[in-house]
Amino acid sequence: MRVSTGRATQSDSRMFTVVVEAFGMGKQRQAERRFTVPLALLQGLMQTIARQGGRISAVLSGDASPPETSPPAPAAPQTTPPTKPAAVSHADVPVNLYKPKAPFMGTVVENYGLVGEGAIGRVNHITFDLKGGDPQLHYVEGQSIGIIPDGTDANGKPNKLRLYSIASTRHGDNLEGHTVSLCVRQLQYEKDGETINGVCSTFLCDIEPGAKVKITGPVGKEMLLPEDEEANVIMLATGTGIAPMRTYLRRMFEPAEREKNGWTFRGKAWLFMGSPTTANLLYDADFEHYQAQFPDNFRYTKAISREQQNAKGGRMYIQDRVSENAEEIFAWIENPKTHVYMCGLRGMEPGIDEAMGVAAAAKGLDWSELRPQLKKADRWHVETY
Ligand SMILES: Cc1cc2nc3c(=O)[nH]c(=O)nc-3n(C[C@H](O)[C@H](O)[C@H](O)COP(=O)(O)OP(=O)(O)OC[C@H]3O[C@@H](n4cnc5c(N)ncnc54)[C@H](O)[C@@H]3O)c2cc1C
Repeated sequence: MRVSTGRATQSDSRMFTVVVEAFGMGKQRQAERRFTVPLALLQGLMQTIARQGGRISAVLSGDASPPETSPPAPAAPQTTPPTKPAAVSHADVPVNLYKPKAPFMGTVVENYGLVGEGAIGRVNHITFDLKGGDPQLHYVEGQSIGIIPDGTDANGKPNKLRLYSIASTRHGDNLEGHTVSLCVRQLQYEKDGETINGVCSTFLCDIEPGAKVKITGPVGKEMLLPEDEEANVIMLATGTGIAPMRTYLRRMFEPAEREKNGWTFRGKAWLFMGSPTTANLLYDADFEHYQAQFPDNFRYTKAISREQQNAKGGRMYIQDRVSENAEEIFAWIENPKTHVYMCGLRGMEPGIDEAMGVAAAAKGLDWSELRPQLKKADRWHVETY
């Protein structure tokens, strides 16, 4: 932010122009806006802009405005959820550094199971070394990479790539900046009495340290975190949909990662995690720890479908937890600094949608209108597969 106020004294009657982005309602939000005020009102104006979610890009001495505006009124209590564009910066987000025709050859560093005894299925945490690429394969939180499994498909053609959400922050789990981790569930299903194993997920879950793997990407800008350290983040995850959430939560609360990234999260984060059993919860101990360490900033709410009951006596799914907490979730959403992220199997979407619809209706809002507004404002982020 450029700030140029010159030297100011108590009796200073000079004017200052505050240049603001992403401020106001409707089309106004897309335009840069300028407010010119005397010094005595400058601080109050800046506070009001910050409260209403605007981004100040410069404070200039003098009247540098096309005289658009009188200063904005102090924030009124919100009655409908606002649709301010978020401070999600898409700048410097790497995309497709490596493509399928010339993938990067990563080396497996480690591969271990994430689920406990008695869990359903198999989910592994797999880390690849990315050193030595030109360009260096790098990424940011919320992106995915492609994996091309060895071997050929049923037609004898080389296997095609599959996408996986990145589960490590840009610094990697070891914070050295040259690894990427994934959280992979082995796909298994029955067909004609036979167990079919998914090609790539089985390839990854079985892979040994030292093996070379074809990696493409990174890709994706849908799930990027806002840069605002005071943003609020609601996360709705099922199964391996926890991968991007793990990157956010490490960025927010993992001490060594915080030190490395210099991003001092001061907002609130709330993770809703859906899982069939306790043994299937992923990275649970880490999240419990963050909640204990940062009780004012992080809430962790679990829906364990085969072990917990919802209010109607049925299985407790993530949408039931959303319904239980609907009032608070909507209070968060009314704050323009709040972003919602959803990730997991595609099947989770209708349930969440229904729960949000009921919750919105209770507040006199129409979810089918509100959701696209939030999406347009870059505050509703969904990656399901
Ligand atoms: C953006 C994105 C992010 C993703 N992130 C992750 C992640 O973080 N972790 C993760 O584990 N996965 C993730 N996936 C899914 C991943 O890309 C693969 O789709 C998954 O691992 C299965 O691939 P596979 O090669 O093992 O299965 P394949 O061998 O490709 O088999 C899949 C096919 O099997 C068939 N099939 C599947 N289930 C059944 C069934 N019950 N009955 C009959 N046929 C069936 C379908 O035709 C399906 O297309 C993500 C996908 C996307 C698009």
